[in-house]
Amino acid sequence: MTSLQMVMVGRFLVFGNCCCTTASERMRGREHFQLSLVLAGGMAICWLVFSYCASVSLTQVNRQVVLNHRLQRKQAKLMEPVRTDVLTVTPWLAPIVWEGTFDPQVIDEAFMSQNLTIATTVFAVGRYTRFLRDFLESAEKHFMVGLEVHYYVFTDLPDDVPNNVTLGVGRLLSIVRVPKFDRWQEISLRRMELIQTAIKDHIHRGANYIFCLDVDMRFHGRVGPEALGRLVAAIHPWFYMYPRSQFPYERRTVSTAYIPLDQGDFYYQANIFGGALEDVHRLTKTCREHLEVDKSVGVEAVWQEESHLNWYLLRNKPTKLLSPEYVWDDAKGRDDKEIKLVRFSSVIKNKAEVRENL
Ligand code: UDP
Ligand code: MN
Repeated sequence: MTSLQMVMVGRFLVFGNCCCTTASERMRGREHFQLSLVLAGGMAICWLVFSYCASVSLTQVNRQVVLNHRLQRKQAKLMEPVRTDVLTVTPWLAPIVWEGTFDPQVIDEAFMSQNLTIATTVFAVGRYTRFLRDFLESAEKHFMVGLEVHYYVFTDLPDDVPNNVTLGVGRLLSIVRVPKFDRWQEISLRRMELIQTAIKDHIHRGANYIFCLDVDMRFHGRVGPEALGRLVAAIHPWFYMYPRSQFPYERRTVSTAYIPLDQGDFYYQANIFGGALEDVHRLTKTCREHLEVDKSVGVEAVWQEESHLNWYLLRNKPTKLLSPEYVWDDAKGRDDKEIKLVRFSSVIKNKAEVRENL
């Protein structure tokens, strides 16, 4: 019992002895009683709010890795780096996930017992619904297998969402209806706003993490909980070998996405980004606001939302980076020797055919 509660009980006891006093004392007693009731109500509300906040923050904090002692894995050797051909950690000490840098069994054991739900947004507007079947079928084979995944398909054509893709246990699909946009760029521009609203309105109640994915993609290999983190972004497959002055950042000062030639860490591709709900909500909210400011002065950043994503991630460093294994492009072939495994990649599409209002 807290000291405040003790005081309250004490007051009630005193009130109990008031029965044979004067009218004014009885009046005072009644006032005290009412005051105590208000205090008790206030405390109950505070306690409810506190316990709700505590439970929310507990589910969001990454737990310590605790492994079964029987899981004897290969020893990590300090003087024997697992990858010497690529950077595996950023200057701000965020890991860059490459094949060979993690043990899938250790990662799975660390995450599987946490009952995590991953919200996964994917837009399929207009002719892009044709990509959904391959996207979903391959995701069921490779994406966060063993975890609960809730797909949110944003579409203007709900009837075109395949309804016979078998989802694994604990995996769900919801359709979010969106209007048809006039130009394909508009979809990219509105994605941030629609994701932000969806997180605020319903996703935040039912998930621990969120990933936002392009639909014209296919999974080929594991994309598992090694990709989870507070703020996660993937390095673009076409630009990782270039100096930052050659990244296709927005270079016009008139845009809020402007990045000068001498700044930049990596060029991130918007086809996959994610993290904890709170962090992704902040990202989408900021990008949405910047997109709106640009629009109000008649500016559209060179790569729409991707330019704004890159601006945001320059200021707010991702806590985990995914190597280009996690956002490959089929048009790039499979010859790059640093890419040991292609996990998720853009399919080759006929832009003139799928994009309306080119
Ligand atoms: N998109 C859509 N309908 C369209 C254009 C785009 O649903 O008409 C969505 C879809 O999720 C797509 C994403 O916006 O994956 C980004 O567009 P796109 O893939 O054409 O851009 P790219 O990856 O080629 O830069
Ligand atoms: Mn795409």
